[in-house]
Amino acid sequence: MKRVFISHDLLVKHASEIYTHVVFNKVQKEFNTTLKYRSDILNIDGDEHIYRVRWNVGEKVLQEFTVNINGVTKKGTCNCHNFEFVGLLCSHLHHILVFRFYVIEIPPHFIMERWTKRANRYEVFGSDGLVMKDDKIGMEAMQISHYCQLPTELAYMVGKSSKAYDVAMDFLNQAFEKHSCIGS
Ligand SMILES: [Zn+2]
Repeated sequence: MKRVFISHDLLVKHASEIYTHVVFNKVQKEFNTTLKYRSDILNIDGDEHIYRVRWNVGEKVLQEFTVNINGVTKKGTCNCHNFEFVGLLCSHLHHILVFRFYVIEIPPHFIMERWTKRANRYEVFGSDGLVMKDDKIGMEAMQISHYCQLPTELAYMVGKSSKAYDVAMDFLNQAFEKHSCIGS
């Protein structure tokens, strides 16, 4: 089925060509938030640029992120770590790529093969034993990726408090017990 959308964002157009339908919807939502941000140059050292990407309402800063990026290779990181967690470009890196570097395609190093149509072209058997088509693979992989992200965030939070650690471990043990009941 042909996708219908209206966007003048060339990176959204590129995303529609490369990603599965499920992943594209998520990427488009993320990129659509980009216009609310403004960026300041924090430092430029040769090709290495550091930007502050912020969302202000009046004088109040609601969100602020730091983007490190190489002006030539366009390789970079954002301290929201969305790419490291789910393998998709965040709106902050997107903002810098579009408004500072005028890129017209998502740089290849920010495209994870597992989210692409090409990787999901063939039918495979899912964990439930059913044949999965394009979108279901995208959804299942997304869920797995999200589950992988949670313990990382949890570990960061509980690392600060022993009480939080006890509560989290208790919760995780209960989750494992429930899962083994369902699985048997
Ligand atoms: Zn970010």
